[in-house]
Parts: sequence; structure tokens; C-alpha cells
Amino acid sequence: MKRRGFLAVSGAAICVPLLGAVRMEPQLRVLLGTGDARPLSGGGFAFDGLAYRGSFERLSDGSIVNVITLEEYLYSVVPREMSPSWPEQALQVQAICARTYVLRRVDPRRPYDIVPSDMAQVYEGVRAESPPGRAAVDATSGTILRYGGEYAQVAFSSCCGGHTESASDAWGGAPIGYLSGVVCPYCTASPQYYWSRDIALAEIIRALGLQQETIGETYGVSIPSFDQSGRARDFMLDRGSNEAPTVARGEDLRRLLGPKLLPSLLITKCSLDASQDAWTANVHLEGRGNGHGVGLCQWGARGAALVDGSVEGITNFYFPGTSIDRWTSVSSRPTTTNFQLR
Ligand SMILES: [Zn+2]
Repeated sequence: MKRRGFLAVSGAAICVPLLGAVRMEPQLRVLLGTGDARPLSGGGFAFDGLAYRGSFERLSDGSIVNVITLEEYLYSVVPREMSPSWPEQALQVQAICARTYVLRRVDPRRPYDIVPSDMAQVYEGVRAESPPGRAAVDATSGTILRYGGEYAQVAFSSCCGGHTESASDAWGGAPIGYLSGVVCPYCTASPQYYWSRDIALAEIIRALGLQQETIGETYGVSIPSFDQSGRARDFMLDRGSNEAPTVARGEDLRRLLGPKLLPSLLITKCSLDASQDAWTANVHLEGRGNGHGVGLCQWGARGAALVDGSVEGITNFYFPGTSIDRWTSVSSRPTTTNFQLR
């Protein structure tokens, strides 16, 4: 039960309307996987060597689901998604984004709401918690990003390399105004702001599922088209005048190679080492940033916070037109009724 009229964020008082005398804390169901779970004497439970807050339920297929309050879930998520040594404003922005992200995914019709991996949000129970992470969650308790009456579609990644990505360019679909990409001057301190890789041509061809003969036939690589943020739309293997070039979607190539080999699609240089036989040649890539680049640039939030960016200033910069508000229900449509998840 909470009663709150004002939320202090980064020293600024943000007016938040009271939505009712009684507010129940939202509960999440996090799928942990199969294995043994046992209650701990001090509260919570243990699963697969880790301690978790809340309680657990076993699904019919044997999987363990952690039933936990939204805020306690975030205690573990925020320090795993962003270093707890970073400025408190950046951590608070991360907390608001993480809260918004998961609330959009709560669906009482499913046996669980979210998985604890980097496919969604990393969650490792109590072990991941830290005092700065808990402080960021507490300072922003119950707040989310809203756009046009709905929870904003929130995305975040490590470093945008100088320009965040449009959601529609990255994933298709209709353009989303507050996810259309902005020039970001704040993330240059990231160790992945500049990167270079030499990837065996054979590895790229294997990742793309092409026939091995393609290696010997390839004598050039290039990026034929870029989107408005400068990210590679496509990746082309030039196979000479008698063969049609092979074109792969940039996003597919990044997914297939993995983020360690191809940190981002903001590629500034792409060449095939012509001095070597194609079977042993490397593709040289240079680029900027780490991650898909859509929405919040986490290194950018850090950089902005270090130059006195407020929490609201940072969210407005990366999600222009959104506002910080309180959650009202797990539905993306706002209501003034009390929260009833199940
Ligand atoms: Zn950035």
C-alpha cells in the first residue's frame, strides 16, 4: 500500500497525481527454469545456487516461477543492466526504463511474464543487488515512461556510437516518434565507442548458412545501403560478374555472428583482405557503439548525468515527447482503478 503525491527525482520535484487511496504492489512472475527450489529460513528461496526474494511456484512442466513484487525484481535488474558505480541519475533512468519495459510485458493469461536473460532483462536474484541499485529503484518507485496515455515502448542498449537507432529501421513496423533516433554526444567514454574486428570470411559465410564454395567465389565485401542513423542495412558479398552478389540483412548478420564479433551495425569501414586467398582471408570491419542502439544509450545516460543531466532531461533526450508518470495498471491503457493483476 502506498500513498504518494510527489516524487523527488534528481533533486527536482515531479508532480505525480494520486490515483487512489489504495495501490497494490504489482507482482511479476519470472520464469527461472527447471530445477529444485527450497524456501530459505530468512525469507525468499534458493534456486540453482542463487537466493531470490519473494516466493516460487512450480508450473505443470516442472519449471520454477519466481513470484516477486515489481520493485524487488528491479533491485536485482538495475545493477545488472547498468554498473552500480555509475551516477545516480543514470541508474534512476535505468530503473524507470526497466520498470516500463517489464510492465508492458505483464500478461495474466500466460504462466509467466518475463525471462531472466539478456533477451529481456538480466535478473539474478539477491546476488546482483547493491545499495546504489536499490537506491535508484526506491528513488523512482512506481514511475514509468508514458507516451500518449500508454506505457512507452522502451528499449536500451550499451552504447549508440553517436546516433541512436530508429526502432522501425532496426525492427520494421511503423515509425515511433520517440524512437526515431537522436544524435548522442554523451557516450564517447564507452570502450566500445570505436571498435574494429577482423572476421574470417569463412566464418561469415558459415554464419549466413551459405555453401562453402561461396568462399572461393567471393572477392569483395561491401555495405550497399545505410539507414538514416548510418547503420548497415545490408551486407553484400561480391562474387564477380558471372554470379549475382549475395546480400544479407545487416541485422541478420549481427544476430548470427553475435555481439562479440559484431558489436553494432554502425559500421564505418568494411573491406576484404585482398592479399590473401579468400579461403583464409579476413573481413576487416570498423565501427562504433555496442548493441542495437534503439532508445536509451546507457553510456550516454552516464555521460549526460556527469554533465548535470537530470533524470527527466535524460529520458526526454532519448525518448523525446514521453513523460515520467506513475504506473496505473499492467494494461498499456491507463486507468484510475486499483491495480489488480490476478
Ligand atoms: Zn550514445
